[in-house]
Order: sequence, then structure tokens, then C-alpha cells
Amino acid sequence: MTIANRLESLHHRLPPGVTLLAVSKGQPSQTIEQAYAAGQRRFGESRLQEAEPKIRALRQRCPGLEWHFIGQLQANKVRPVAKAFAWIHSLDRISLAQRLDRIAGDEGRCPQVLLQVKLRPDPNKGGFPPEQLTAHLSTLAHLSHVKLRGLMTMAPLGLELDQLHHLFSDCRQLAQQLRAHLPSAVAMDFNQLSMGMSRDWPQAVGAGSTIVRIGNDIFGPRWPAGAHDLCGDTCT
Ligand SMILES: *Cc1c(COP(=O)(O)O)cnc(C)c1O
Repeated sequence: MTIANRLESLHHRLPPGVTLLAVSKGQPSQTIEQAYAAGQRRFGESRLQEAEPKIRALRQRCPGLEWHFIGQLQANKVRPVAKAFAWIHSLDRISLAQRLDRIAGDEGRCPQVLLQVKLRPDPNKGGFPPEQLTAHLSTLAHLSHVKLRGLMTMAPLGLELDQLHHLFSDCRQLAQQLRAHLPSAVAMDFNQLSMGMSRDWPQAVGAGSTIVRIGNDIFGPRWPAGAHDLCGDTCT
């Protein structure tokens, strides 16, 4: 199957109103162009170093691309991420939120931001514990440049289908609770749930996801994390 076929089949299976984010990490820019030619405009990347040259290379050739940062956000990368990406799915600390807000103001940007939440123990993943989100909600609601759009979550490996459904439903309920406590101008746009990847998107969509982040099911296997850097080191 071609990339265009896979995109088409996903669009057939996704309910209307669910946004398909094509996760292009580990894929070269030529592959992104193929998806672009098939109509895909929103792409997710998780490593700034890898994403920047691709974003630069495609700026002229593929107008209208919308880049989403989905990887762990480091404090020293906030500025370049805010400059290169329209959306950030992985804001997971209050200090980062304040830093991003200040930098976004400097740079004249208004990033669309999803708060990453950790609903189950998972040593490999970041995320606000839910009680921290509740505690910091008013600080978050008063950021002036960051546009709060909703929650993002990732499931730990090894959950059964019904456990996945529970986890994603918990995320939807938490988003509803938070939304009820936000000032109405902020609450209006706090309406997105970024949940579901290749292995679990049907369960996420069943629980109310509005953005699915899919790599493998569109592009097939990718280079492992750091492969490009490794090649850079050994090929010099
Ligand atoms: C890599 C990644 C995805 C996509 O995973 P696939 O299994 O390729 O669909 C989704 N979300 C995040 C945060 C990722 O890092």
C-alpha cells in the first residue's frame, strides 16, 4: 500500500471531526512530500534537531504545512520549538508553561497548546499528574500568549483493550472537569483531546479523541531515535 492509500483508508475509518496528525519523526522529507501530495497538511515531530532541517526544506515546496511538536519539551528548546511549531502537544510542567508564555510573547507567537497528562504510572513518559493540573489551572488559564486547547495523553505499553478505553475516558472526563473551571473565553477553545497512536487509536477515538497521532500506520517503519545523529557522527 502506498502512503496515499493508507491515508485514505484511515480517513474512511476515522469519524468526521477527528483530526489526523501524521507523525513523521524518523521519516525523510521526501516521504513527508508524498503525504503532502496526498492532501495531508498536519505533521507531528518529536525531536527538534531532526525536525528543523525538514521544516526548513519543506517550507517552500509544501506551503500550508502545520507542524505539531509531540516530543518531550526541554527548557532550553522552548524558543526554537515556539518558533518552528504551531502546536505543542507535550507541555507537562508549570515552569515550562510560564517560560513558553514569556518566549511566545517575545517572538510574537501564539502557540496552540495541549497539556500532557499522565493518568497511569509510566517511568518512560512525562505528563502532569491530574491533581497538579487542577492545582495550577488558574495560573495556566491566565497565560497570555499560550492558547490552551485541551489535553494530550499516552497509554503505557501492555494495557488490555478495556484498560485503554478506561484510560482514554478518564482523560476526557478530566478535560471536562477542567473546562468547567476555566474562564469562559478560555473554556471555549479548550476542546481538543490528543489521544491515540497506531496501536491504540480505535480505543482513543471510541473514548472521544479529537486528534489522533499516527506514524507507523501511515509511513510504515521509521529510523530509530537518534539514527540520523548517529549517521552524522560515523559518516564524517
Ligand atoms: C511516535 C509517536 C506517535 C506515533 O506512534 P506510531 O506508533 O508510529 O503511530 C504518537 N505520539 C507520540 C507522542 C509519539 O512520540
